Amino acid sequence: MSSAIQKLSAAAETTGLSFDRERNILYGTFGAYAFAVLVNASNVRYCSIFFHVTRDGNAFIANDGKEIAKESNKLLQFVKPAGAAPASFLVKLEKDEQGTAQRILDALNFLSAAFTSRGYVNTCENCRHEVATEPCAVGNGLRFLCPECFESVSASMNDKAHQEAETPENVPAGIVGALGGALLGALVVVLFGRLGYVTALSGLIAAICALKGYELLAKKMSVKGAIISCIAMLAMIYVGHRADWAIEAAQYFQVDFFKAFRAIPMLIEEGAIELGQYLKGLFMVYLFALLGAVPTVISSLKQQKTKYTVQKLN
Ligand SMILES: [Zn+2]
Repeated sequence: MSSAIQKLSAAAETTGLSFDRERNILYGTFGAYAFAVLVNASNVRYCSIFFHVTRDGNAFIANDGKEIAKESNKLLQFVKPAGAAPASFLVKLEKDEQGTAQRILDALNFLSAAFTSRGYVNTCENCRHEVATEPCAVGNGLRFLCPECFESVSASMNDKAHQEAETPENVPAGIVGALGGALLGALVVVLFGRLGYVTALSGLIAAICALKGYELLAKKMSVKGAIISCIAMLAMIYVGHRADWAIEAAQYFQVDFFKAFRAIPMLIEEGAIELGQYLKGLFMVYLFALLGAVPTVISSLKQQKTKYTVQKLN
């Protein structure tokens, strides 16, 4: 059975549409409407179709989206766009490539007719003029731009990239930021653990907190920053885990938290806390933290690379 991406790629071949192999996006212009089709990020059995359309200069109305989806007789599902995102619909992928291609064509046919009958026109996301556009990869997102706006957006992104290149990375401030973020993240890990959820999700949150903390204060992200963030995260999870035990010990021995925190090694030595159990708990939070953190760090560094790129799909 072919993967969702293979299905989209095959659909491009059978329908004569284009496929961007680098980003795995099926795109083109159908009727007067430029569109892009991506495998849905949260459910690979679906693809998302994006357009940028307006009516009398106004953004696409969610209610129209719902109506169009209803009229499509289960062909389409409307997705309420977040913020200024374009009109987006979900289409379920068929089991085979042929069926998927047909379904996407049906969806495009249906949508272009529905937009036309409701008075929606294809517009540029930047200048908002009714002109021919192309989906472009801008930073880490997708934008529908006319040729002129493509040039101006490229130029302004270039300026930003230059500005950032000239801003020095403030590593000491970054360390403080990473530690602060990691502390917050460690609290989440420990709190989730207390509630019985030891999952990769808490590791992911911890990693995001540490990375964001670093970037915020260092004014930049780099491989060095990612390593510092990871170390800060590991250190803070250690502290968080120990604090978790200290809370219990403080309650049990009726002493204050800081005293209990300092006494943890002694309590382990005396056997009041079982070393095996203590280490097992620590191992589990580390394991899940890393499971969540590693992909987060990798994708964050990847996004950093393409933060200011502006390219037409090809
Ligand atoms: Zn434009």
